[in-house]
Amino acid sequence: MKIIDGTAIAKQMLDELKIQVEESGLSPKLAVILVGDDPASKIYMKSKEAACSHIGIRYEKYLLPQSTQDELLNLIKELNESEVNAILLEMPLPRGIDGDAALEAIDPIKDVDGFHPINMGKLLIGDETIAPCTPLGVIELLRRSNIEIFGKHVVVVGRSNIVGKPMAAMLLNRDATVTVCHSKTKNLAKITKEADILIVAIGKPRFITAEMVKEGAVVIDVGINNPGGAVVGDVDFEKVKEKASAITPVPGGVGPMTVASLMKNTLSLAIAQSG
Ligand code: NAP
Repeated sequence: MKIIDGTAIAKQMLDELKIQVEESGLSPKLAVILVGDDPASKIYMKSKEAACSHIGIRYEKYLLPQSTQDELLNLIKELNESEVNAILLEMPLPRGIDGDAALEAIDPIKDVDGFHPINMGKLLIGDETIAPCTPLGVIELLRRSNIEIFGKHVVVVGRSNIVGKPMAAMLLNRDATVTVCHSKTKNLAKITKEADILIVAIGKPRFITAEMVKEGAVVIDVGINNPGGAVVGDVDFEKVKEKASAITPVPGGVGPMTVASLMKNTLSLAIAQSG
């Protein structure tokens, strides 16, 4: 059994991106907006800032602790018209803020998370110019771990717009046979047990048990849960690792790859905008 070291693979990716940023001759700039004061988002913002400074991307944060919808939309409009290359809106947003309207207000050519309906639509028809960072990170993790996707049965548990759905589209784009499960799925364990590659993004600590996994499967745990202190994934790592041929830990699996993919997308947008 192999533990897939997301931290090491992300570091490798960041080192490569640092060279690509230098070679591009550009000075890409990422703007990150936090509405409210979600503590997890604040932690993620720090790791994004550190990654930017490591590879030479300019980083600007906008903290809006008590912002209204109008203020948020005005800020996005200003950023759309500024020299910023990439705009990221931290999720979750506080109650009272319409997330869909805010995401749609971001200029699609600056939409670093790929959540704008135009970019989501492109993804669905096979254009991955800007793909959402977490699914992109999972694809990179598999590629760099020499795990083939082509022809495999991949089961994705979770169908959110930010992870499960774009993940499924990207797997289809790579010729996997994809099954997507969610909270209304019947006989979940029977389906997960058929997976050659099992990708889990549901936000339920240690939900996937060893009985739900096929011997020799690859298990990718996207979940980040904090039940009473320690950070754990959606997979019962200790038991499942005995059955899997490869598995990602939490922390140190998909998380760092999401940040590295954000850097990759920021550079891609800067290059696209430079013509
Ligand atoms: P989300 O929007 O809450 O969606 C959760 C999905 O899981 C939904 O589709 C839901 O089904 C499904 N689900 C919930 N309970 C289930 C059950 N018992 N059986 C089967 N499916 C179930 O969550 P998300 O934003 O996709 O995030 C999922 C997890 O990934 C969270 O822990 C989050 O913190 C983590 N995450 C990690 C990263 C990273 O970089 N590593 C990035 C993003 C998110 P329904 O659609 O039917 O409700």
